Amino acid sequence: MFQVRFWGVRGSIPTPGPSTAGVGGNTSCLEVRCGEKLIILDGGTGLRELGNELLKGEPLTASMFFSHVHWDHIQGFPFFVPAFVPGYRFDIYGGKNLSSTLAETLAGQMNFPNFPVTLDQMGATMLFHEFDDGQLVQLGGDVTVRGLMLNHPDGVYGYRIEHDGKSIAYCTDTEHREEPDAHVLELAASTDLLIYDAQYTPEEYTGETGGGSKVGWGHSTFVEAAKLAEMAGAKRIVLFHHDPMQDDDAVAEKERRCRELFPNSEAAREGLIIEI
Ligand SMILES: [Zn+2]
Ligand SMILES: [Zn+2]
Repeated sequence: MFQVRFWGVRGSIPTPGPSTAGVGGNTSCLEVRCGEKLIILDGGTGLRELGNELLKGEPLTASMFFSHVHWDHIQGFPFFVPAFVPGYRFDIYGGKNLSSTLAETLAGQMNFPNFPVTLDQMGATMLFHEFDDGQLVQLGGDVTVRGLMLNHPDGVYGYRIEHDGKSIAYCTDTEHREEPDAHVLELAASTDLLIYDAQYTPEEYTGETGGGSKVGWGHSTFVEAAKLAEMAGAKRIVLFHHDPMQDDDAVAEKERRCRELFPNSEAAREGLIIEI
């Protein structure tokens, strides 16, 4: 089994409400199943619902990989109920920013007076692993996770997960440059599934529409997704990290335009499950 399930697909801030209910309003969180192994990518608000689903089963061990610690990737963590339950164990991987470790940042968002419970009051076993650029993590069996730094304010890791001769690449919160990003190409090389930051349309990115240029904000477009997938020989694209300004129709239009460039592509929606 090699399966990806999308629990949160929105970028920057949750977007509840009727105009976004089809795509879903939760921020970044993916569940990846590789045989017996459970990998969680990012802890945006989608993590809360994943946690509720996990509670239906027995306590388990999972590995969590954080791309980075911007709010939309960590905000679900204080509401991730399994982390409060003894018996669960989480191996938590992520980079260090300039001033603090991943553990300090996750704890920081729960510090008084921002939250009533602290990280060390959570009952599950949590082991923090500091992640370095280019590191390969062996999770047992044939499951590996490799991470490379991408282009984003305060830094970000993209990850490639391999299992059973197949792979997925998770490259969110990254901005394209004029030259294609060698790290994206490496993570996405011949991958079965490229999940890519397509927050903007090209017009939104340049500022032609949507209230000003987004150049330098650390996000990319579906056109770059198609270009990079083509160059890397990726088989399939999921457009990810939708801009909060995009309602369901806008995301569908982005998907339609991307399919003109790269037919095997689709927009991430909450609840989407892909068998690799
Ligand atoms: Zn983000
Ligand atoms: Zn970010």
